[in-house]
Amino acid sequence: MNHLSKRTRDDQMVLSKFVPTCICVDAKARSQVFNMAKHNSHFGCTYCTYFGVSVDTMRYPMHHADLPPYEDRSHRGMKADMIEAQRRVNNNERNVSVRGHKGFTPLLKLKKFDLFKGNAFDDLHNTYECATQHHNEIIIKEIPKIVVRMSGKMFLDTLDLRLKNIKTPSCITRKPGTCLMKNRSQMHGTEWRNWLLYYAPLCLHGLVAGRFIQTLECLSYGTYLLSQDIISQDHVALARDLITRYLEEYDEFGIEKSRLNIHALQHAHVSVRNWGPLWCYSTFNFESWNHRIMQTITSPKGALNQIVNRHLINFSVELAMNDQRISPEVKHMMKQILHKRRHSQALHVGDHSYFLGKSVMRAPTQEEQRVLQLEGYETVNLNVFQKMIIRGVTFTTKSYVKEDSRSDDSSIFTFQNTVCTIQDIVSFTSQEDQNVHGLLVEEHEMVRRGTPLFPIAKQFCEVRAGGVLHFIKINEVRAPVVKAPLLGSIFFIPVTNLNEVD
Ligand SMILES: [Zn+2]
Repeated sequence: MNHLSKRTRDDQMVLSKFVPTCICVDAKARSQVFNMAKHNSHFGCTYCTYFGVSVDTMRYPMHHADLPPYEDRSHRGMKADMIEAQRRVNNNERNVSVRGHKGFTPLLKLKKFDLFKGNAFDDLHNTYECATQHHNEIIIKEIPKIVVRMSGKMFLDTLDLRLKNIKTPSCITRKPGTCLMKNRSQMHGTEWRNWLLYYAPLCLHGLVAGRFIQTLECLSYGTYLLSQDIISQDHVALARDLITRYLEEYDEFGIEKSRLNIHALQHAHVSVRNWGPLWCYSTFNFESWNHRIMQTITSPKGALNQIVNRHLINFSVELAMNDQRISPEVKHMMKQILHKRRHSQALHVGDHSYFLGKSVMRAPTQEEQRVLQLEGYETVNLNVFQKMIIRGVTFTTKSYVKEDSRSDDSSIFTFQNTVCTIQDIVSFTSQEDQNVHGLLVEEHEMVRRGTPLFPIAKQFCEVRAGGVLHFIKINEVRAPVVKAPLLGSIFFIPVTNLNEVD
């Protein structure tokens, strides 16, 4: 593992080393990897010295009269506890647990691995598949509804109807209309993520009391902040406070609702301080690859051989594209099959940014000339496109979106914290003979209410229809936007980052 690659660069030997610094696994694997107690034992949390409250089984409330104080573990403390546990194991003691440790872990052999910091928080299993899902069940089955006579079926139908009204950018491939609450047992991790971050407070508004929605808002916005592309220290501190408040309010649902995965939410901000946003090390990517591996199996016989064979075939096709012995025509065909030439006909307008499709040349209108002049540009002709790709994400103009489509790529969130709808994607030559690439957008005004509909989850931006025309450059585009025409208004919810796979 110490010689991953060797190559010469400017007559210098370059030696690459593989240094494991952190792991991200689900709770079951975490206790196994750290050789620690399981979730149903005392000291079951690998992040802290939480003792647990034994009721019928081990419970994990935030506060409880029987709960001793606890603190975050440390590399040094964990190592000392492991040594002590291993000493007792060597003395043939049974059921050894030194603050949850049962002995040594192979992780100790990794010289750069910090046992505390290297234990990264897993958003997929903790936040989305456990906390969000369990909280959702409590809301659906146990919380009193505002309309007392509303049946369970009618409640779910209302949620599903609202979900169907929401339009998402095409980077969200699992559409809200398909992950119906009626069939929530079949929902995937990404659908629970989207439900928590983009849909839940909107869909539940007016159906259950505001204080219950605000509890969920704390988790929604706390997780949203920790999943952004750019996170400040203030964001991490705010997320920590929101998740603490969430856990305190979640305690009110009863001790039997508490779980280790939900307790672990309070450690998420530490991971973000150490390793960056949650998506940098999330198990979503691993689960996605597992899915791809599973797709290579077409019959039950010899499943392992099928996986290996198909991986090697794909790998050899990738390698063959750089093989000198293969004719350019064949290579061209291979690239087309593997979608490698997706942007070959496009106009390259910046780092990983392309304008796509046929363009139309036209003169700018008076209003367009005015907004271009405000930015210091003058031009007699605009080259107008309808579609572009920025860092792998598709955006289109408003007129390009079909009425009945479930996707809408025409809205953007900018680095100036504004939300806009794209009118035209334009390219032109300025008076200084510079090629300028940008967007003519309608910037929406935010609705300011005395009492906001969502006082905590600030990612839900209520906007007025229409707006003021602006010209912005493509490097000002930060993220696509989920669009929800609900509750008699329009809500824009920027997608947290452009990096997560769906
Ligand atoms: Zn803990």
